[in-house]
Amino acid sequence: MEFANYMEQVVLENLDSVLAQYPDCCKCDLCRRDIAILALNHLPPRYTSSEKGRVYEKVNAMSQHNVIEVVEEIAKAVEIVRKNPRHEAS
Ligand SMILES: [Zn+2]
Repeated sequence: MEFANYMEQVVLENLDSVLAQYPDCCKCDLCRRDIAILALNHLPPRYTSSEKGRVYEKVNAMSQHNVIEVVEEIAKAVEIVRKNPRHEAS
């Protein structure tokens, strides 16, 4: 059985636009991954079959309300990681 949490897709699709609003936040792979994980841990998973093409179909079907909730969680995660990056500031 194959399935995927399409909330992951939604978080990744919105990560860059949220990060763009925080010019002082580190945007390295480690910090981006931490932000995505923090946001995902605060969002309800949305499981779907991972058949080809199906995941994106479901993402497009998400209501605007869900997307706003996702963006808010990403913004909160950015605040946390920005203050406590898991590496020395460069
Ligand atoms: Zn970083």
